Amino acid sequence: MDTKILKIDPDRIDNSKIDEAAGAILEGKTVVMPTETVYGLGANAFSKEAVAKIFIAKGRPSDNPLICHISNRDMLSDIVAEVPQSAKILMDHFWGGPLTIIFKKKDNVPDIVNAGLPTVAVRMPSHPVANALIEKAGVPVAAPSANLSGTPSPTTAQHVIDDLYGRVDVIIDGGNSKIGIESTVIDLTGEIPMILRPGYVTINDVRKLLGKCEYGNSKGEAGTPKSPGMKYTHYAPKTPVVCVIGSARELELFLMKENRKIAVIAQNANKYDFNADVVLSAGFDVESYAARLFYLLRKTDELDVELTYALLPTSKSGLEVAVANRLLKASGGRLINLKNKWSNI
Ligand code: AMP
Ligand code: MG
Repeated sequence: MDTKILKIDPDRIDNSKIDEAAGAILEGKTVVMPTETVYGLGANAFSKEAVAKIFIAKGRPSDNPLICHISNRDMLSDIVAEVPQSAKILMDHFWGGPLTIIFKKKDNVPDIVNAGLPTVAVRMPSHPVANALIEKAGVPVAAPSANLSGTPSPTTAQHVIDDLYGRVDVIIDGGNSKIGIESTVIDLTGEIPMILRPGYVTINDVRKLLGKCEYGNSKGEAGTPKSPGMKYTHYAPKTPVVCVIGSARELELFLMKENRKIAVIAQNANKYDFNADVVLSAGFDVESYAARLFYLLRKTDELDVELTYALLPTSKSGLEVAVANRLLKASGGRLINLKNKWSNI
């Protein structure tokens, strides 16, 4: 398939290019759009044929539901059966932005979007290009991350080109994704607000507003999948990743015994060489770690190394939870704890 690349500057939006991309959405084509979290692979959420193309392009399992992206709150009533008070509060605070809310759905959302669940996931991005595209198309845009299923999510147009060129109709290049990890997913259909996927909006952010919030796992009552996507291996580069709990110094000492060619991903990495072949700096704060995470994971495949050790962020709250979640998934659960010399590999 021919893939058209449209470069659109988020600070000076070229409306003729938005018209072209929105036209493609309405013709049932696939359009990759930049968002503040990661790039999304979009199609008209009301067209099951168009949405089917997303699953084919990504190689995504059909039981993994998609997020519907909207550009204004009026669009909600087309797809959502009920908007609880808790959702209104969270939308006021975090939309447009990196929070996806699970609602009870309306019947006009085709089953392929939500994998047959009675619910639908909805997000309003803050990215001007994504919003202009959705607004012009006038339909909710179903969009998972614009990568091949299982690989690290794309935070640059080049990542998308590497994975999906020739597999999608349009790729909009709108620069780098600022946040760099996917949205927080919260389920508001039950008694207690449940975070199904950690992200930039944290459990404490939600507790402050709603009083309560817990982490959910991928199983609902009676063992039915709550957020089916969380059960799949994700974000993995070809080069194996091992997560490390410990300090930079502890990792450096540990790696004195490592004979393989290795890369290390760590924050505040400038003071250490880790006895590694390559040190990839994850910046000096957790926001930078999040923003660079998928870029660095993809980078390891361009290096001549056999293994990557990634130091997990130390704090167990805030955005650190989301960064650790993505790293643990990328590693397939391979973890070394240098704090008490415990390891599961
Ligand atoms: P992605 O679009 O690749 O960022 O993945 C979307 C995430 O949202 C996956 O983890 C899905 O399982 C989750 N999700 C989407 N729709 C629903 C839903 N209706 N109920 C629960 N989780 C959902
Ligand atoms: Mg994804």
